[in-house]
Amino acid sequence: MDEKSFSGVELSPWLVRQCATIGVRSPTAIQAHCIPQILAGRDCIGAAKTGSGKTLAFALPILQKLSEDPYGIFALVLTPTRELAFQIADQFAVIGKVVNLRHCVVVGGMDMVAQGKELARKPHIVVATPGRLADHLESCNTFNFTKLRFLVLDEADRLLGGSFDEQIKTIFQNLPKKRQNLFFSATITDTLEKLKCVTGSEVFFYEAPTEVATVEQLEQNYVLCPKDVKDAYLVETIRTYRGQNKGGNILIFTNTCKNCQVLSMTLNEVGFENVALHAMMKQQQRLAALAKFKSNTIKILLATDVASRGLDIPTVELVINHNIPKIPKEYIHRVGRTARAGRNGRAISLVTPYDIKLLQTIEQHINTKLTEFKLDDSEVGKIFTQISVTKSEAYIKLDEQDFYERKMINKRKKWMMEGLDPDEEEEKFLKTIKRSKKTKKNKKQKDQ
Ligand code: ADP
Ligand code: MG
Repeated sequence: MDEKSFSGVELSPWLVRQCATIGVRSPTAIQAHCIPQILAGRDCIGAAKTGSGKTLAFALPILQKLSEDPYGIFALVLTPTRELAFQIADQFAVIGKVVNLRHCVVVGGMDMVAQGKELARKPHIVVATPGRLADHLESCNTFNFTKLRFLVLDEADRLLGGSFDEQIKTIFQNLPKKRQNLFFSATITDTLEKLKCVTGSEVFFYEAPTEVATVEQLEQNYVLCPKDVKDAYLVETIRTYRGQNKGGNILIFTNTCKNCQVLSMTLNEVGFENVALHAMMKQQQRLAALAKFKSNTIKILLATDVASRGLDIPTVELVINHNIPKIPKEYIHRVGRTARAGRNGRAISLVTPYDIKLLQTIEQHINTKLTEFKLDDSEVGKIFTQISVTKSEAYIKLDEQDFYERKMINKRKKWMMEGLDPDEEEEKFLKTIKRSKKTKKNKKQKDQ
């Protein structure tokens, strides 16, 4: 962290005081460089490593300008994931408390009508994922962005990387031409030209100078394992790490929702209590899982790449890659969930012989060599059968649940066609099932 105090970046005293309440006393490099330029009215593209304080680099100048002239929806912040949207909104809320900041989070999986109403009340700051915001813009006219002063794309390279193109286009069509654009990410270079097309010609570009793309305090390891024994190696990795480090939280990344769910069930079954976070879960469950992990109630989180960008959970001391990401920069984001804001952290990637090439590409990209995390192979041999049986059982359980869900979708369709309320009917249906299960159980007990 830079030793300069915030007075050097010309922030209002109330903002400096608010920062102090959350332990932020001097600006990080990206904050020291970008805040004055943003306050001076320039567009800004900021690139700095994970955990280096990019959120406050845009939130502080926006809050300062907002406090000078609050009018209409003042700033729109777009992020690629829902959980990140809530996190950014929280940061704005904490700092903006003293100026009665009104904010609104607009993400999928939450009540659209309630969101529509909140938007109509002209919040100062809207934090949104592109899909849901585009839906609102296409379906209602109770709000507009005509007074918008700031557009922020956090994780800008992800947002402009292709998969959000349609929604971003809809959103941009609804924004005033005259506005300040602020784009941030840890990995921005591959979309730089695209970003510059959206900004004005006077854009301020800041990239933190560095040889290595990951942070210094991060220890990076690999565990070499045969493909079929990977899950046993995962368990042994957790056991070995826990032997050396009792306290820290562990975040495990895997590639698909199904894998994530099955691994989560398997680990729970063998005594590693954990929660899962993936896109097949309902949003309320996603938020509940994350809350348990953040509050330290549960110390292991199994996630897909929905958790790879932006999440700031200081207690995460270990990131495990159950699969090696195919794109090197996604590796940077995943391992960037630990060793944040100057803390230490470790990342361990499980590597099969098929992954060696991918590993080398990542090593070249980050300009660092991973070292081996030593495990006792004979211990893996002892747990292998137990883990693979438990995992097969988890698969069977999941398929049964899947089957049940598919059946429920068909039932709901039928109820709708019949003009019935599907929610009410589902509730009734579930009650009857519960009752019949109870009678069966009672009967069984009587029979015994
Ligand atoms: P990034 O977006 O660069 O990955 P974040 O904005 O999420 O990083 O910040 C990471 C952590 O650092 C957060 O917990 C934040 O509160 C903290 N932080 C931000 N700026 C400072 C600062 N100037 N001094 C101390 N801690 C800071
Ligand atoms: Mg961030």
